[in-house]
Amino acid sequence: VELTQAHLDAMAANRHLNAYIVETPELALAQAKAVDDGTRGGPLAGIPLGIKDLFATEGVQTTAGSAILKGFVPRYESGVTANLLRDGAVFLGKLNMDEFAMGSSNETSAFGKVISPWKARGSDAELVPGGSSGGSAAAVAARLCAGATGTDTGGSIRQPAAFVGIAGIKPTYGRASRWGTIAFASSLDQAGPMARSVSDCAHLLTSMCGFDDRDSTSLDLPVPDFAAGLTGAMKGKRVGIPAEYRLDGMDPEIAALWDQGIAWLRSEGAEIVSVSLPHTKYALPTYYIVAPAEASSNLARYDGVRYGNRVTPPGGNVHDMYAATRAAGFGKEVKRRIMIGTYVLSAGFYDAYYTQAQKVRALIARDFELAFQQCDVLLTPTAPSPAFAFGAKADPIAMYLNDVFTVPASLAGLPAMSVPAGLSASGLPLGLQIIGRPLDEMGVLDAGL
Ligand code: GLN
Repeated sequence: VELTQAHLDAMAANRHLNAYIVETPELALAQAKAVDDGTRGGPLAGIPLGIKDLFATEGVQTTAGSAILKGFVPRYESGVTANLLRDGAVFLGKLNMDEFAMGSSNETSAFGKVISPWKARGSDAELVPGGSSGGSAAAVAARLCAGATGTDTGGSIRQPAAFVGIAGIKPTYGRASRWGTIAFASSLDQAGPMARSVSDCAHLLTSMCGFDDRDSTSLDLPVPDFAAGLTGAMKGKRVGIPAEYRLDGMDPEIAALWDQGIAWLRSEGAEIVSVSLPHTKYALPTYYIVAPAEASSNLARYDGVRYGNRVTPPGGNVHDMYAATRAAGFGKEVKRRIMIGTYVLSAGFYDAYYTQAQKVRALIARDFELAFQQCDVLLTPTAPSPAFAFGAKADPIAMYLNDVFTVPASLAGLPAMSVPAGLSASGLPLGLQIIGRPLDEMGVLDAGL
């Protein structure tokens, strides 16, 4: 109860960050009290967590950061959050995010932007916390929760973790249940933890993962105890450095950070090998075809009938109702994705865009398979820059380019983690990314430690 209360106090004192959409103090204190009373227990007993608002939480508003779901209170608990509750965790509230997890800066939330607790040295400008799990990132970094859930479709755990100097891991596709997590792009979406250390992530990941027969792509495999298995041992491990990630015009600070990471792993006894992922340059365009295509299909369910809010124009028919509901309920970026998605899936363009993207996706996955014949994990930067100012990437293409290092592992379904690795000259956190073989979260966590 004391620990929970301390976090609730910190939340109340930091509302200007706008990290939480909903705070649930009564629920949290009741859960904490049950731990103190001994009626609740488990490996996470009494650990106060923040929950990204993409996870359905029974009896607590769940919006995906969208106006269309304002006021939606699920009658069920998502697979991932049910696992955390089973293990004794305490839920402090629901964390702000980019609308339907579409974004890299948290500026697309219908509940207002999240502000990073960090500022550049000598500057008073407010910075983005990254996205889409920006509320999770800001809350963990500002100590408004001990850890948080995030989701990652193309980088939404890793990039915000890097921007605020925390750790975050996306497991292998299929490890964490997608049941009850509001869908963005179903073939890419994965839940994972965000926390202040690699070992905290390991504890949370163990709890979050596991087979769920309500998710048709859930993997029916045992989940190791990642925290118990964590050694950090790198002796004899081979770390691959993909040549194609060294982009022309790469920020010299990011290049230097990467070299530093290579030196650290080498001094721990790892062998550094240079590898090639030749289709890397196609990953971003492939992602921005596949993800909007799936999103346009997933978001068709918000029709004003089955979920969320409805707008009924006087005298209109059912189609007018759909149109008015969706026009009022979805933000600009979500509408952009629906339009891109329906375009690439339309009869005349399907083969030119969607089929082609699926083929390239297979080539990208094949690149990783071949690279992992020469190495155990890959090391790359997480993002091409430190956190930027609000409005700095008003052009959607500029925003999408920020995902250049995170989308390839998503397309291949691989486990990938961002770990805090240093500060920029301006004093802002920078992250390094570790990508692992399918199901080798343990190897990724060990390299991260
Ligand atoms: N920034 C990426 C996008 O906007 C990734 C988001 C995510 O991983 N949910 O699609």
